[in-house]
Amino acid sequence: MPCAGVLLALALLAADRPLEALPYTPGLDPEAMDRSVDPCVDFYAYACGGWLRRNPIPPDQTSWSVHQKAATQNLRLLWGLLERAAAKPDGERTPAERKAGDFFHACMDEKAVEAAGAKPIGADLAAIDALGSRAEMARLVARLHLHVDGGMLFGFGSEPSQADAGVEVAWLSAGGLGLPDRNHYVKGDARSREIRSAYQAHVEQALRLSGVPGTRAAAGARAVMRIETALARASLTVAEKRDPRRIWNPTPVAELRTGSRAFRWDEYLAATGAPPSAWVNVTEPAFLAALERQLAREPLSAWKTYLRWHLVQAWAPYLSSPFQEVDFAFYGAKLRGAREIEPRWKRCVQWTDAELGEALGEMFVARVLSPEVKADAEAMVKRVQAAMGARIERLEWMSPETRRAAREKLSAMRHMIGHPAAWRDYSAVAVARDNFAGNVARATAFETRRHLAKIGGPVDRTEWELTPPSVDAYYDASRNEMVFPAGVLLPPHWDPGLDLAPGYGNTGAMVGHELAHGFDDEGRHFDARGILRDWWTPADAKEFERRARCLAGQYAKYTVVDDVKVDAWLTLDEDIADLAGILLAWDAWQMATSGQALEPRDGLTPEQRFFVGHAQWACASERPEELRLRAQTDPHSPPVWRVNGLMPNVPAFARAFACREGQPMVGKQVCRIW
Ligand SMILES: [Zn+2]
Repeated sequence: MPCAGVLLALALLAADRPLEALPYTPGLDPEAMDRSVDPCVDFYAYACGGWLRRNPIPPDQTSWSVHQKAATQNLRLLWGLLERAAAKPDGERTPAERKAGDFFHACMDEKAVEAAGAKPIGADLAAIDALGSRAEMARLVARLHLHVDGGMLFGFGSEPSQADAGVEVAWLSAGGLGLPDRNHYVKGDARSREIRSAYQAHVEQALRLSGVPGTRAAAGARAVMRIETALARASLTVAEKRDPRRIWNPTPVAELRTGSRAFRWDEYLAATGAPPSAWVNVTEPAFLAALERQLAREPLSAWKTYLRWHLVQAWAPYLSSPFQEVDFAFYGAKLRGAREIEPRWKRCVQWTDAELGEALGEMFVARVLSPEVKADAEAMVKRVQAAMGARIERLEWMSPETRRAAREKLSAMRHMIGHPAAWRDYSAVAVARDNFAGNVARATAFETRRHLAKIGGPVDRTEWELTPPSVDAYYDASRNEMVFPAGVLLPPHWDPGLDLAPGYGNTGAMVGHELAHGFDDEGRHFDARGILRDWWTPADAKEFERRARCLAGQYAKYTVVDDVKVDAWLTLDEDIADLAGILLAWDAWQMATSGQALEPRDGLTPEQRFFVGHAQWACASERPEELRLRAQTDPHSPPVWRVNGLMPNVPAFARAFACREGQPMVGKQVCRIW
């Protein structure tokens, strides 16, 4: 009889195959529950205990959740679609199948990738080596920004204006770091110090791999650390960046030019090929000033090493295995706790999604999205909007003026479901079946040019920021719109085969969550047209802030891992959205089922099914390294608190499970905004 380890290995092998169709997981899974737990004591364990026991974190993942499991099933389906698209004769392929299929095919050709070694970055490395003065840096950085992702030195792109709805403007943002955020460079605790020294060793190793001799690589890594630490000190924290007024600083281009002796901004701007503009939004002026100081202070050799490191870092995943392995050892294993690198097929599907997402999305949607599901989602969004409308009307703390503006914002909010109305045209991207790195560079350059070309033009309101297979959704404050991709409207998230209770608890709460982002601590600063404008009376704004503080006070007490608590100012917007989301979903479910006699199922009342369906959205395990990283950078609270931190603020929950006062899921103090 094979031992458990062999059985597990066999099961994993069997799972690692492309799928012909998505497997079915019910929207409420009784097997995922642990009914030995009292729901009023630990609702997360009650709803997710079985799931957590049966779903250990796979070795190539740093966390594992219902969300990620569904996303991985989507990847397996896409894998099958891509293999078929790659194998079909050219005459039988749609343009989308041709681009995505060939991109995937070239990516899977590991022999060619290994044979290419570091050649794909050879020309860029030579250009960096040939840099003769700091004055030449602007042109070189513009060239690298075109086909290298990752914000070397800073970011430059196009975003909607916050002052003039409907117009795209240039945004110049902070960047230039190799660690996930500025706090990684400045915090004094033992784990942060350990990460920094591992990072410096990693930079040294990567430099050596790219051809820098040993002693110079060590000195180079120290220079990189010095430059990045100076930039990090001048950067905003992730929580500070939530403040839209803080990152809106329109700056005349002429001022950039005169401010700088070290960096030739006019040459940079011209070399990007972006349409000329009189001003740019500098998201972090202090960062830009620090960058200028560093440019003047550090020797040219340090900058050449810095550019080399960022080029190697951005490209390592696409190069031969020595580069992949070194990259994984730090970013996957050390920083986030993964045990092994993801299989090649998974990386190739995700890169196809990242580079040619709407070609792949077109293939996905044709396979999975039914008109019925679109209609269900449409009806749900309408009900959630109506629920928010009713809440705005009866909000006892809001003045008539603010209420009027809130009503106006809600009725102007748009939504998109499933996929973009028109698919992106990739005909300008040349995709070769035998040149993976070339495909990545051309697809990245296509995206960069597409974004830059928007500067000065109208905002395209049909454009999507997520690809259709994504198991995710978003609200965009500048466009005042919500987007729900096809990938998040499939079981176990939305399950049309079940009663409405779990689906409204899950997908309804997601819709409510996204809608509420329009009215959270960040979104509330934008008006109905997406303009950054204060539409709140001072008294109403004060009351909003008082109520938000109530929520932040609760979440700040929750532990993420060991001695790390939730950064409640970082997670505030998401916590506000979670709370409003479940309340709106509850109201919408009442509307959808009004007048109907609802039956218990699986030993749960309809009300209990609503809440279990909601919580089962969040079932997740995370490695401790991942938990620490997310505590610093992820605006979402950990899954356990997104359930157990939420329920004490939802009186309908305590009623549904007949919880008694004093039990952990019954709030002593109930926080409420909307
Ligand atoms: Zn959110």
